[in-house]
Amino acid sequence: MELFTVKDFIVYNNPCFSCGENIIFTFGGAINPVINGNWCAVKLVTTYSSSLTLRVELSSNKFEINGDIYQFKKYLFSNFPMRLMSRCSKCKTEIRSEAVEFDFNKRIIKPFKISDEKLIVREPDMMYHILSVGSHSRIEITDIKKGISVLSIDVNCPLNLARIKTRENLIKKLKTYVIFS
Ligand SMILES: [Zn+2]
Repeated sequence: MELFTVKDFIVYNNPCFSCGENIIFTFGGAINPVINGNWCAVKLVTTYSSSLTLRVELSSNKFEINGDIYQFKKYLFSNFPMRLMSRCSKCKTEIRSEAVEFDFNKRIIKPFKISDEKLIVREPDMMYHILSVGSHSRIEITDIKKGISVLSIDVNCPLNLARIKTRENLIKKLKTYVIFS
């Protein structure tokens, strides 16, 4: 499976393939990173007495810590696993990375894989819902007007964005599953 840098991950589903909205990107839980040019800054801790900010250079995946490096290591330990997440607030499509690893010798975030993708497409009559984890996918298709499930199957095939690419492709592909199920 493909390896991602932080930058790859940010642009992977931005704008959202399904509805065109700009995604909400998070780095480790509820933290809101600030992307400014070639840098992504993540405020990890802000209290009266201490602050800890992780900065990632997007072109190289190098990181630096504004604050105490031991405090950062403690933070990583107590906040494991630290994942990247991209979520669309409109259609709820959501992409999650595996736990990211920090190489403290080279000061880089190691390239990482996607853990799972939840792709959601709403049409006027149908709702398509895919959960893709590794090479497995769960497909759910619902007829919205009739309020019934049209298809609910597991397939040994990755139906992720890297393969699907567009909303139209996804719908086309899923309709073939309906025909052959
Ligand atoms: Zn969306």
